[in-house]
Amino acid sequence: MDDATRDALKARACAAIDARAAELVALSLRIHAHPEVAYEEHRASAWLAELLAGDGFEVTRGLAEMPTAFRATAGSGAPVVAILAEYDALPGIGHGCGHNIIATSAAGAGIGLRTLIDDTGGSVQVIGTPAEEVYGGKVQLIRAGVFDGIDAAMMVHPGTRDAVVAKALACAELHIEYFGREAHAAAQPENGINALEAMIIAYNAINALRQHIRRSARVHGVITDGGEAPNIVPGHSAASFLVRAEDDAYLQDLKPRVAACFEAGGQATGARVELTWNPNQYAAMNTNPAIAEAFRRNFARVGRSVPAPETPRPLGSTDMGNVSKIMPGIHPAIAIAPPHVNSHSPQFADYAASPSGQRAVTDAAKALAMTAVDVLTDAALRSQMREDFERSCAIP
Ligand SMILES: [Zn+2]
Ligand SMILES: [Zn+2]
Repeated sequence: MDDATRDALKARACAAIDARAAELVALSLRIHAHPEVAYEEHRASAWLAELLAGDGFEVTRGLAEMPTAFRATAGSGAPVVAILAEYDALPGIGHGCGHNIIATSAAGAGIGLRTLIDDTGGSVQVIGTPAEEVYGGKVQLIRAGVFDGIDAAMMVHPGTRDAVVAKALACAELHIEYFGREAHAAAQPENGINALEAMIIAYNAINALRQHIRRSARVHGVITDGGEAPNIVPGHSAASFLVRAEDDAYLQDLKPRVAACFEAGGQATGARVELTWNPNQYAAMNTNPAIAEAFRRNFARVGRSVPAPETPRPLGSTDMGNVSKIMPGIHPAIAIAPPHVNSHSPQFADYAASPSGQRAVTDAAKALAMTAVDVLTDAALRSQMREDFERSCAIP
């Protein structure tokens, strides 16, 4: 396919997205107004699945034992491009990560691509991926084989600046429980085993550990149970911690060091400790250079020029990292808020529904759709993307 033909297809995709812009933005605002946390995204996933089914996609709802996952397919055969939709919100903060924009830009990209999939050949899938903020829904989808047969995966995440190359940390989640023995805190303290003291010792041990780990690594958590009443020696305490590192190997090094801090709390107090690592560990993001450069050119077409080379700033973590380890993938960011606004904050949630958040829905949809057109129609790009991917897999 020559460049002019490809450009004409891209223009058609963008026009199709513009024609549905009001509907996409309305859906983004509706999801924003009804935030649902991980695994409970029943309304958001239903609205997205219904929109895509109504547009002519073949939709399967419920994947990998997750009722709020879905797959919407248009076209047939290879190559297959997947556009990923996230839609979970944060407890207490709502859409403070802007996943309403991820969801509707993915749907919009799918809608734009469906109008020309017979001309590009291959197929497009919009995959609804629940529980990104916790639990790692994509890890569950990968394990169930949902991503088998897909050539490339992409999504766009809202942020405080436009970026093509994302840096996301590998991340493991640890749940901690101490079991001690209740006793009257004044009358019989000598008979008690203090599960809260065990937790405080571990918390401080982690503060000490943090001084002697790589600067880019992160260990942080919250105590979710610290006892019931001041006159009872706490017989139970619980916490949830995240351990993050720039690469998967260093994360594996850190995990036993963090676990040792919690074991120390148990040893010091006599409380029994139970440590449970979430089996859905998040991998570091492996941005595919070939797709990223295609996205960079298309991002500029919607007025978002990101000069290369970039200095990626560390983000949090994403289960898109795991997808990027099994196939070529990208996770660019689109600015919806000024740099001083914190992600995962009520202010960021406000921006996710603001005019800039609304504009991001269609800008991201178009950049994704145009990049998918590149992948579907450019065999040289596909072989470069495969080569980049194989090379990245060779790096430990
Ligand atoms: Zn997010
Ligand atoms: Zn988030």
